[in-house]
Amino acid sequence: MNKPKLVVATGNKHKLIEIAQIFSEFEIVSQKQAGFDVDVEETGTTFMENALIKARAASKALNLPTLADDSGICVDALGGAPGVYSARYCGVHGNDAENRAVLLKNLGDNKNRAAHFACAVALVFPSGKEVTAEGFTYGKILYKEEGDGGFGYDPLFLNDDLNKSFGVATAEEKNSVSHRSRALYALKEECKKAGVILGEKQ
Ligand code: IMP
Repeated sequence: MNKPKLVVATGNKHKLIEIAQIFSEFEIVSQKQAGFDVDVEETGTTFMENALIKARAASKALNLPTLADDSGICVDALGGAPGVYSARYCGVHGNDAENRAVLLKNLGDNKNRAAHFACAVALVFPSGKEVTAEGFTYGKILYKEEGDGGFGYDPLFLNDDLNKSFGVATAEEKNSVSHRSRALYALKEECKKAGVILGEKQ
């Protein structure tokens, strides 16, 4: 039997894989594959605002239920920065190596290395129905990179649950504790509470 399709408003392959592992009962299609090839501007000041902006735009254009996430890293000693600006901390969108270099420079030898990843997820239906959830994972910023797995800030993030850097952790290990997986499982719970049966017309 064909799996129902779920559109995800991202082009990020890492996110698509993580989402496909958790929402395995669906065929995950990127918004581009579904026919919406637009980089929606993330003008929100919170992760949730940005997730909703992306999911609403794609759901409206495609007339299909759409899932979007917005995520980033928040560093205590930097007042929560880079936060929603994580993807463009160095001034250029998506330059992971430069973003990490700027983070290390700004934190310097500050002894307070506490940080967390945050993820907001929003599932928006063409009817206007919206279900949302958040997830977090806690740790510390390393003084130098460890490992080259994952993406973004992973090699700089020593995760408290795994006691290893996300750059060293396997994909399975990271998924077992990640902010994104926690947000996605929480979203499944929220759908149940709201009586939303995924894969059915809402
Ligand atoms: P988004 O695509 O707007 O959600 O931007 C997320 C940015 O936050 C990415 O470009 C990464 O820099 C960072 N980020 C989010 N999640 C992760 C993760 O799981 N590992 C490493 N970096 C992440």
